[in-house]
Amino acid sequence: MIKLNDGFQQLPKTYLFSMAARKIAAFRQSNPGIDVIRMDIGDVTLPLFQNVGQAIIEGTKAMETDQGFRGYGPEQGYELLRSAIAREDYRERGINISDDEIFVSDGAKSDLANLGNLFSRHCRVAVPDPSYPVYVDDNAIQERAGDYKDGRWSRLIYLNGDPANDFIPSLPDEEHTPDLILMCFPNNPTGMSISKEELSKWVEYARRKNALIIYDSAYEAYVRTPGRVRSIYEVDGAREVAIEVRSFSKTAGFTGVRCGYTVVPKDLKGRYSDGEEASLHDLWTRRQCTMFNGASYFSQRAALALYTKEGGEAIAAATNHYLGNARIIKESLEKAGLQAWGGVDSPYVWTRFPGEDDSWEIFRRCLEDCHVSTTPGVGFGNNGRGFLRFTGFNTRENTEMAMHNIIAYYTQQHS
Ligand SMILES: *Cc1c(COP(=O)(O)O)cnc(C)c1O
Repeated sequence: MIKLNDGFQQLPKTYLFSMAARKIAAFRQSNPGIDVIRMDIGDVTLPLFQNVGQAIIEGTKAMETDQGFRGYGPEQGYELLRSAIAREDYRERGINISDDEIFVSDGAKSDLANLGNLFSRHCRVAVPDPSYPVYVDDNAIQERAGDYKDGRWSRLIYLNGDPANDFIPSLPDEEHTPDLILMCFPNNPTGMSISKEELSKWVEYARRKNALIIYDSAYEAYVRTPGRVRSIYEVDGAREVAIEVRSFSKTAGFTGVRCGYTVVPKDLKGRYSDGEEASLHDLWTRRQCTMFNGASYFSQRAALALYTKEGGEAIAAATNHYLGNARIIKESLEKAGLQAWGGVDSPYVWTRFPGEDDSWEIFRRCLEDCHVSTTPGVGFGNNGRGFLRFTGFNTRENTEMAMHNIIAYYTQQHS
């Protein structure tokens, strides 16, 4: 038989989201009269912006003509889009990024995994706990994670987030120096954003330790608090130590359209095992040309439509809508006497129920007693035990109804 990649062998068998989805589906099936309100959705719910839909239609019309037909595009993305991104998302905000440091992709998830191709299997990787599960599983599949036991991988360095540090992990201790550091702010699942001052410590640390940061800023368009970071390159010196991964998925409703981008500055260098130095920009260019044939023409036309007055306004309106829901969730949980994090610069709210340290038990109570589905925090790592994630991806009406149920349940429980 074929020899398999051992990296798959120890991966926990059930992916968290599918387990939660199965439990929700089972409850609905046995309670057909009950409307379960989905507060677990990790996907946007508003329709595509009109000018984005229009751009896709125009792209299709053009493709149907002799002159407008496009086959393979540049692997790095069309120049018009790369330049709009570099100009509007970076240079106009005072950040020095050139057009050719932008690599257009079919989304952040695949880039986060594919970036692993650039680094040695021997690199020590630091991941936040709790975190988006993809960072951990990618490194397990690429055989950088070691052995799995009791919810943790032996070779990963866990950056602990907990109520004591407000889910902003501290720097690793001296015995555990990572080569690669994965970070995400505004964070999924905790919803916390990071200040420039706090992020500067990480950039300074990476410079001192010759480490590389992969910074996932898929939720940058949700930042509202002044002084909270949208891009890691707002921090001086980050160009020499950080790759930034972004997506139009959660900011502009592109989860089905598929388009994102990754910034690989030309200052980034690495070293082969024989000591020879190489540029990460060169390696990523080579990797993409070999293994990727570009994001679709339609998704790039769609993304370009976001860099217009109409597009910008639509992003602001959509993110404001989800943030409004998140604020209602947070305030309602607090009204019910619960502690809640996030929800200010992020569509996610993170909470726990006093005296209950099993996420699946509070997930069950929300589902069966309040008819609200959530995501159990334990699926995001051991530090998520006893926590739940609520999302603002819903209608205002559903959000209000779900929170009404939760407040009513809690008031009854404690009266
Ligand atoms: C949703 C999400 C992504 C994935 O984005 P795609 O561009 O749709 O692949 C990446 N990172 C985080 C933290 C996310 O929540």
